[in-house]
Amino acid sequence: MSYEAVIGLEVHAQVQSRSKMYCACPVMEDTGALLPNTYVCPVCLALPGALPVVNRRVVELGIQAALALHCTVAPESVFARKSYFYPDLPKGYQISQYDLPLATDGYLEVQTGAGVSHIRIARVHLEEDTGKLIHQQDGAWVDYNRAGVPLLEIVSAPDLRTVEEVRAYATALRANLVALGVNSGDMEKGALRFEANVSVRPVGETVLGTRTEIKNLNSFRALVHAVEAEVQRQITVLEAGGSIAQQTLGWDDVRSVTFAMRSKEQAHDYRYFPEPDIPPLQISAAWVEALRAMLPELPAVCAQRFITTYGLRDAEAQLLSVDPAIAAYFESVMAAAGDTVTAQDIANWITGEYFRLFREHELSIAQCRVTPVQLVRLQQLRQAGALSSTAAKAVLAEIFQTGEAPEAASERLGVVQLSDAATLQVWVERVIAANPTQVAQYLSGKSAVLGWLVGQIMATSQGRANPQQAREALLTHLERFRSTS
Ligand code: ADP
Ligand code: MG
Ligand code: ZN
Repeated sequence: MSYEAVIGLEVHAQVQSRSKMYCACPVMEDTGALLPNTYVCPVCLALPGALPVVNRRVVELGIQAALALHCTVAPESVFARKSYFYPDLPKGYQISQYDLPLATDGYLEVQTGAGVSHIRIARVHLEEDTGKLIHQQDGAWVDYNRAGVPLLEIVSAPDLRTVEEVRAYATALRANLVALGVNSGDMEKGALRFEANVSVRPVGETVLGTRTEIKNLNSFRALVHAVEAEVQRQITVLEAGGSIAQQTLGWDDVRSVTFAMRSKEQAHDYRYFPEPDIPPLQISAAWVEALRAMLPELPAVCAQRFITTYGLRDAEAQLLSVDPAIAAYFESVMAAAGDTVTAQDIANWITGEYFRLFREHELSIAQCRVTPVQLVRLQQLRQAGALSSTAAKAVLAEIFQTGEAPEAASERLGVVQLSDAATLQVWVERVIAANPTQVAQYLSGKSAVLGWLVGQIMATSQGRANPQQAREALLTHLERFRSTS
């Protein structure tokens, strides 16, 4: 029997605001970089009598995210207490939203090799983060810097069918949130966290299978691998005649397996009820429209514009528009270029070598020392034949570190291709003199030897000869040789 996977994602995104969700404590993106328990107050420490106040800026960013995801924003939504006991949760409950969330019924269109998929979004709501437990030899410690940090939770319908769709959805969601300024997209700092709900069913079956929920997936890699492993595990269990228990699972990245944490909690376990200290959140149509009017250009629109305006291929247009800072860099390069270089060449540089160098040096575009003008200059040197493709890459890697002009770096590295006739002549003559056998073979009709001789010129010049011109100079010389010998 063949099976189909069914996946729904719950995404927690840290909202980029200056203060916490229900108090005035500052938010640092990397709360772990602070001394523990620095940014705390009676509200986020849950001291008796302290009252929460909703952060207006977070509501605005939440509405904009909901609009970008084509959701309907509720005219009235309600905060609710979600109770459970854990030392990182000072109040003993989290203030979240339950049956009346901020927004519902949206979708995100995602592209995979198999085409475009329409993934429905069930709900978008506001809540707060917990503190952090730090386990040490001398015991467990708790840091409340993160307690009360605003989170946006985005829940998809069970519409994802393959890991490709899961990856594309997660990538597109992140790109949208970053473009909106809602989230930093920095997954290493935990700014975006995933939970995957997974079930399988025989192909053709319409009823959903029993699902498991994998918690705490903090990278695209972990997300994709965990879903892949869990789908396989469930199929194996079913094929052996077993059944799937509705469970909450963890992901062991080292062993690449999911493991049971607890049986799945039910909504009634949390004893949800409306938060009595916060009035219902009323959002007027005028406020929604004002926020809609301020939406920035979203990644899908940007990619389409790059295709129509610059004639880019789809793949590079998508890659460049994932991050608005990269899209802006690309456009500055195009503005600096005039019509001296093609957009596709520039797009290839950025999505190829730049992305590779960013990974290698763990840099972001904001820290990139190569200016748009320098990239244009580099590509012009390449087009003029002064730099081979390999040399141009080496020069880029160099100016990435030094920030110097491409011409200066090329000179210093000694990789400028020489095409002046006198120099070429010297190399050609040297190679002809040193290889009489091969020259004779060529003259007697073995034309394949020509490539080998060009290779000798490249070697003699230590790669600085322009291969095309070296070939032409060699041919001219050999012909002269033929007529005089
Ligand atoms: P809970 O709050 O208990 O986790 P929800 O109803 O909010 O439950 O669903 C959470 C996520 O689980 C959603 O993303 C939803 O799409 C997904 N989901 C629900 N049922 C299934 C299923 N049978 N298989 C896969 N995913 C599912
Ligand atoms: Mg859940
Ligand atoms: Zn506080």
